Amino acid sequence: MSRPLLMIPGPVEVDDAVLAANGQPPLGHTAMAFIEVFGKCLDDLRDVFRAPDGQAIVVAGSGTLAMELAVANVIEPGDRAVVVDTGYFSRRMVDVLKRHGATVETVGALAGDCPPLDRVEQALQTGAQALAITHVDTSTGVLAPIPELAALARRHNALSIVDGVCALAGEEFEMAQWDVDVCLTASQKALAVPPGLALVVARPRALDAFKARRQPVASYYCDWSLWLPVMQAYQSRTPAYFGTPPTNLIVALSESVNQILREGMEARWARHRQLGASMRAAMQALGLKLVPVRSALCADTLTTLYYPDGVDDALVGKIGQQGVAVAGGLHPDIKGRYFRVGHMGIADGAAIVQTVTAIETALMHLGYPITRGTGVAAAQAAYYQT
Ligand code: PMP
Repeated sequence: MSRPLLMIPGPVEVDDAVLAANGQPPLGHTAMAFIEVFGKCLDDLRDVFRAPDGQAIVVAGSGTLAMELAVANVIEPGDRAVVVDTGYFSRRMVDVLKRHGATVETVGALAGDCPPLDRVEQALQTGAQALAITHVDTSTGVLAPIPELAALARRHNALSIVDGVCALAGEEFEMAQWDVDVCLTASQKALAVPPGLALVVARPRALDAFKARRQPVASYYCDWSLWLPVMQAYQSRTPAYFGTPPTNLIVALSESVNQILREGMEARWARHRQLGASMRAAMQALGLKLVPVRSALCADTLTTLYYPDGVDDALVGKIGQQGVAVAGGLHPDIKGRYFRVGHMGIADGAAIVQTVTAIETALMHLGYPITRGTGVAAAQAAYYQT
């Protein structure tokens, strides 16, 4: 089956060894072979999240479930929460928090921007149980300054909850050093595994807040008291059961985590910086405007671009006809005016060049005046830094 190169912001291309791991006959969830793989994977996730004192929880579900798996356990009805609104997924976090009984104050900005720290601090001043931040909002491509925001949360005694779905294992992230309390992600983005796994890492302050709850967790499936003993059993290499784990996906995650740690986190972040820089250089050379309003706000896991004058959302389909899948807009304020290109996980310079070639060709088909190769040359120069 011929299929396009997947350059949407998740799901992403998956390495052959990860696919092969996923395609093996299922292991039983209490088989010694599986216990060893899952236990080691949970241990190793601490190195990926950079949280030596973190507890990982991995369950079947998408990123939205991971959001709920984080919120349901540290928020109680009546708690106040502050959300840094950098786009569509921050707003989803508002909904999740409200669903679990929180009173939410949103600190927003225009699409493509991040609210200033002093406004976030002001919102925290009246007291909050949690500050929720989307590390990279996939709808805008805005990268939030996590170290500064997590420090504000700490100063005002709020737990920091970071949605790392479009960032973790692509963008630099030091969970313990930056003192983030809860981080969540999903398998289908920079972890480079097929969709289907929700992951949360909780650090001691979050686990203490959970233990001090006055009321039971409203969601049965998300209740940490049901999952923590299971995760801890796997980590001590003993069998345990609450809900059947998706054993194939976990074996695939384990293969990808091994690859990630072989590459090394610093090298992986540096490669993503190269991917981001080369895609941005290419698009700017073609005259396209980035959605993030300042370069410090540009994520390296995806690039978000306004359609140039005279071009509309037919561009996404035209790029698809050139064999590369990219995504349309998602943020309600600018939805029909921009498109999104993912470059995370195993993406490399060749994927960028193929994608830029497809974008150039599609732009030319739509009558946008460019000289073929302008974007490709800029991408090469930035990626290979020559
Ligand atoms: N948060 C962010 C930042 C995301 O990018 C996404 C998915 N695009 C989600 C949450 C929700 O994840 P899912 O679609 O897997 O439920």
